Amino acid sequence: MIDIQEVSNNVYMLKIPVPINVEAVNLYLFDGEIPTLLDTGTNTPEVIEAVHEGMKKVGIKRLEQVLVSHWHVDHSGAANTFAQEGAKVFIGSRDYQEWTSFVHGQAFSSLNQWATQEWGVPEMEIPGMLKIYKRLQYLTALPDQVTLIEPEQTVMAGDNLLRAIPTPGHTAGHLSFYNEKDSLLFSGDMLLPDEIPYPGIWEEEGHVMSGMPSYLESLNRIEALQTKMYLPGHGLPSENLIARCQEIREKLYHQKTKHRPAESVYLSASKGNQKIHPGVLFIQLHYIYGWEQLKSRVG
Ligand SMILES: [Zn+2]
Repeated sequence: MIDIQEVSNNVYMLKIPVPINVEAVNLYLFDGEIPTLLDTGTNTPEVIEAVHEGMKKVGIKRLEQVLVSHWHVDHSGAANTFAQEGAKVFIGSRDYQEWTSFVHGQAFSSLNQWATQEWGVPEMEIPGMLKIYKRLQYLTALPDQVTLIEPEQTVMAGDNLLRAIPTPGHTAGHLSFYNEKDSLLFSGDMLLPDEIPYPGIWEEEGHVMSGMPSYLESLNRIEALQTKMYLPGHGLPSENLIARCQEIREKLYHQKTKHRPAESVYLSASKGNQKIHPGVLFIQLHYIYGWEQLKSRVG
C-alpha cells in the first residue's frame, strides 16, 4: 500500500522508503496543467513503481516535469528514469554541478584530499567512506538533458506557481520552492521537523567552506517569507515554520558554544573511537567543521 496524502489542492505527498539510512523521503505530485513530481527518490525499481502507483491513484498519466530540491540521491536519483519517460528535469545550476561531480567521482577525490589534509582523517578511514560513496553512486543517474534553474526563478508545477528560493547549507545549490498564493514552502532537506540536516562543504573562489554559515542565512531567508506551512523532504508537513527555524538556530548556537576543538576535526568527530562507522564519521566531520567555522566567524 502506497502512503499518499493530499496536502494542498491537487498536491499530493508520497512517502517512499529508500534504501539508505534515512526516514522515508517525501515526494510531491502536482496534478493539473503541468503534471509535476518534486523530488524523485533513489533510482531503484521499488521507488519508481511507487511513483507510478501514486500517479495512477491521482490520475496523472504522464509526468511533464521533475523538479529537484537538491542533488542528493534520495531526492534526485530517479530523475533520469522519469526523463526517459518524457519528463523535463529542472534543477538548480549550482547543484547540477555538484551532482555531476558526484556521479563522475571528482567529489570523492576532493573530499579525500580535504579530509586527510585538513581534517586529519587517517588513510585507513578512507576505504570505508569510499565504499559508501560507491554504493550511493549506484542509486542515482545523471539525465542527458536538464533545465537549469536559477534562484528566484519561477516555475509552474501542476497549477502552482513556485518560486525557487535559494537555501544553501545542506548542499551549495539547495532550492526550496515557494507557493506564495497558498503560503506553502516545499523545503526539501533545508527545513526538517525532526532533524537538522548536516552542513555540506564546497569550494567558493578557491576556498573550501562549510555550509553551516549559509544554512543560518537560509533559515533567516525562509523565516522572512512569513509562510504558514512547510512541506519537508522527510517527516511530516507542519505549520510552525517560524518556531522550527528558531529552534534549529538555538540548537546550532548551543552546539557551537559547547564544542571544544580538539587537535583535529577528525579527533573531535571520532572522539578517539577507531571503530566509528564511516557513515557516522562522515556526518560528524561535517557538523564539527561547521561549528568551527561558525566559531571563527562570529567569535
Ligand atoms: Zn534527504
